[in-house]
Amino acid sequence: MRALEKVRLAGGELGRAGIDNPFKEAEHIVAACLGVERVTMYRDDPEIDDAILSRIDGFVRRRAAREPIQYILGYAEFCGLRIKVGPGVLIPRPETEMLVEVALSVLDERGMRKAPLDILDLCTGSGCIALALARACPGSRVYGTDVSDAALRYAEHNARVNGIQNVTFLAGSLFEPFEHRSAEPSVPGFFDIIVSNPPYLRTSDLEKAQPEVRAWEPRDALDGGADGLDCFRTIIPGARNYLSRGGFLILEVGVNQAEAVTALARGAGFGTCEIRRDYAGVERIVTVSW
Ligand code: GLN
Repeated sequence: MRALEKVRLAGGELGRAGIDNPFKEAEHIVAACLGVERVTMYRDDPEIDDAILSRIDGFVRRRAAREPIQYILGYAEFCGLRIKVGPGVLIPRPETEMLVEVALSVLDERGMRKAPLDILDLCTGSGCIALALARACPGSRVYGTDVSDAALRYAEHNARVNGIQNVTFLAGSLFEPFEHRSAEPSVPGFFDIIVSNPPYLRTSDLEKAQPEVRAWEPRDALDGGADGLDCFRTIIPGARNYLSRGGFLILEVGVNQAEAVTALARGAGFGTCEIRRDYAGVERIVTVSW
């Protein structure tokens, strides 16, 4: 069988399983199994041997069972980086690229992009944010913390395969790895920028999320408690102890949370506040200065 015929059949099968863009996903699966770019697949329409056909069928079956395509293919794209993902780690979302953009524009506006800064990424997961910032700010040192050892193994791998060296991943909840910093002279006491995309879904919304999220992604990376704000209640007061004067805290927030998060920051004594909407119009990124 040739590739495009297989795309047609696999797309039909994914469509019947209720996948949103079945033919596009079928293209990705067939091209990935063949190890070619999609344009090449369309140009050459290669013959597929039996081993690859059964690999494609395996991937299609997994996708029809609603496993996320990024887990099946083994990676996601984030800010031009190839990020390895799989069960146990949150898949980077396109709107999170905006968190990176906002952090970089805060630095650019102040002419600080090339300065040797210390940057902290809380709940780093796959490391995608920390790695994108580390690559964009080669003079800086970026730290990423996470409670999940499984996630940190992905993060370390992603640093290695992307050849990024100015990043350090540490195990622990939020600021925990820095709590005994006097005993740990190798880690900084203060950061110029702290960023985070913490778990922020309301527990009740998590039950309503699409099956790819609800059944496959790690709950710990998504569940922000009854109102989704649990992590922000720890991060915001905590950040006061770890930000340099004039530093910035930049947070990704969920639907209808920007106002509450801003209020928490104001209550904790933070200064100016800016909110950026994502491409769907949701108030998504909250930036506050210390
Ligand atoms: N944006 C993710 C979702 O909607 C949630 C990520 C998070 O909780 N930080 O599935």
